[in-house]
Amino acid sequence: MDWELREIPYIPGVPPKYSEELVEGIPRRFWDKVEMEPTTGCWLWSGGWMSEGYGKASYQGKEWGMHRFFYTKIVGEIPEGLMILHKCDTPQCVNPQHLRAGTQSDNMLDARKKGRYA
Ligand SMILES: [Zn+2]
Repeated sequence: MDWELREIPYIPGVPPKYSEELVEGIPRRFWDKVEMEPTTGCWLWSGGWMSEGYGKASYQGKEWGMHRFFYTKIVGEIPEGLMILHKCDTPQCVNPQHLRAGTQSDNMLDARKKGRYA
């Protein structure tokens, strides 16, 4: 199966603050830390704990990259060995519509296309 080409299902562009019923399994305390960026549509993690530009938080005793957490809860399980890549090139973003599952080499390719180093 070609995971690289898999499209992410449409998710209504409702500000997460007002749509806690939108997705089950994402706690209110996480939604409260997501800020909608109206221009880009990015959902910016503002939880404070960041690592290499990615938002982080703990959930049920496990440390999560928030982009991976939101992807898992809204889109589904991340296929074994794949990374979650940002189509919007904003590591802080957790909007699943801006995320896709891909390989490490996709990531390098993306970076090269955008003229930066991986
Ligand atoms: Zn984004």
